[in-house]
Amino acid sequence: MEPRIDLHTHSHCSDGVLAPAALVALAAQRQVELLALTDHDTTLGCEEARAACQAHGIHFLPGVELTCLWHGREIHVIGLNPDIAQPLFIEHCSNVLQLRRQRIARMAQRLSQAGLPGAALSAEALAAAAPTRAHLARALCALGLASSVQAAFDRWLKRGQPGYVASQWPELATAVSCIVAAGGTAVLAHPHRYPLSNGVLRELVGEFKAAGGAGLEVSLAGIAPSAADRLATLARRFDLAGSIGSDFHEPGLPWRPLGRFAKLPDRITPIMDRLGL
Ligand code: AMP
Ligand code: MN
Ligand code: MN
Ligand code: MN
Repeated sequence: MEPRIDLHTHSHCSDGVLAPAALVALAAQRQVELLALTDHDTTLGCEEARAACQAHGIHFLPGVELTCLWHGREIHVIGLNPDIAQPLFIEHCSNVLQLRRQRIARMAQRLSQAGLPGAALSAEALAAAAPTRAHLARALCALGLASSVQAAFDRWLKRGQPGYVASQWPELATAVSCIVAAGGTAVLAHPHRYPLSNGVLRELVGEFKAAGGAGLEVSLAGIAPSAADRLATLARRFDLAGSIGSDFHEPGLPWRPLGRFAKLPDRITPIMDRLGL
């Protein structure tokens, strides 16, 4: 059997629902052998996850999913196994977390102006290390103001909706070099989810590689075979390795199953080969 690997997961330090130790316990149940915790813009959960992995005999990698901009579009870059104590890396993350807190506070104001209880809606988000729109979406559901997380995004939180506020995240090249300078491996997260034409996606991947990127996420939970083929072609063209992950956030979302996804396509170097494991 293929080794069970999951290099893209979220805990409650960002917008996941499980504590890092609970996430690891679930990974152990699912026989995951190699696990990275990649919360949005924070590594706060990594020590707890590392200790839990040690107890369960799981190989652990610290990680992060950095939010950044490429030509004004929001892009996510996974950093695998950086030195999470490196001062410039810590500074980068804390700057983004500051932007996140400011953004959520502004979104709460917008929601208040639209007649919703902004302060109550943002309380949980602002208590998290990395406050996100997902927290606001769950609060909208909990207060009976939206019927589902998706409905909350569609009605209030998506770009163009009343609660939306943009943020000036760091540039893609800055995020990639921050990961590389901390000794980490940079992976372009879920490239098939960006609303980009083939040509523009190719440009993005080219610039990501030129900035020091090492891999593309190819084997994601639920990815359509045609999307995986498109990404595999890009990975081969730019000599990028393929990464594997679920983007797990919570047990209640069966389409992002911890430790369960398609295997890497043929002739793709596994990212593990570039991690020095
Ligand atoms: P933020 O990084 O604060 O913009 O929050 C975005 C987070 O919300 C993402 O990391 C996803 O986990 C989640 N998310 C984004 N868009 C949607 C959507 N349309 N439906 C459900 N969850 C979403
Ligand atoms: Mn998320
Ligand atoms: Mn992402
Ligand atoms: Mn993610």
